[in-house]
Amino acid sequence: MGLICNRIERHEIKPGDHLYTYRAVFTYSHHGIFVGGSKVVHFRPDRNFKSITETSSNFNDPPPTPCPTFPDCGFRQPNSGVVLSCLDCFLRNGSLYRFEYGVSPTLFLTRIRGGTCTTALPDPPETVIHRAMYLLQNGFGNYDVFQNNCEDFAMYCKTGLLIVEKQGVGRSGQASSAIGAPLAAMLSSPLKLLMPSPVGIATVTAGMYCVSRYATDIGVRSDVIKVGVEDLAVNLGWNCSDAEEEEVVQDENSTSLITI
Ligand SMILES: [Zn+2]
Repeated sequence: MGLICNRIERHEIKPGDHLYTYRAVFTYSHHGIFVGGSKVVHFRPDRNFKSITETSSNFNDPPPTPCPTFPDCGFRQPNSGVVLSCLDCFLRNGSLYRFEYGVSPTLFLTRIRGGTCTTALPDPPETVIHRAMYLLQNGFGNYDVFQNNCEDFAMYCKTGLLIVEKQGVGRSGQASSAIGAPLAAMLSSPLKLLMPSPVGIATVTAGMYCVSRYATDIGVRSDVIKVGVEDLAVNLGWNCSDAEEEEVVQDENSTSLITI
């Protein structure tokens, strides 16, 4: 595996992996959890929700076309943005990458582009798959590019970690690298050589600033908690009146504070 590139081949995928691919010629990445059987569970804007994403054409998927391979491809609950797709439909001919977990802080800082790795440790594959399938049935709230996007969904499934304070910056590298870096710091850093143009800084497509991204990595933040997937609706304040009636399978760590 290369230092910068997490690209993998299909035969290397394992159930519980956090996969991603680039859409719209590398302008943004789309993330999901591989649950086995050539299926990926991922989170995308629900067209029934009014949200910031509706004004951003980059983040809107085109209307789904019938899948020739799997009849249940594209399955989702009404009003939920969590979707089950086959790997082909998830990738849409894009390249396949695997998000890395448990990387060292040094390696993390060498990454140029946000949203490819984290220092946070992953949970066992069966736990990851359980969270993804549970959220497929119960939803993951409203899609929001900066507070709750496809990368946040996949990272939550892998780690169970949530940031408890709303600070206007999302959990994921994709959002924090887009808005986290002051212009002056960007221009004074060696990374300016990698920037296409100063104009690009203001866009989601050109956010690259490793140090500020490190500050919001869920692996090093002190304001993250481990939340059981069955408790997610309560912790995020979603209006989910039937949450209490769901079966409660809570692991013993689900409410303990992570102290780093
Ligand atoms: Zn499909």
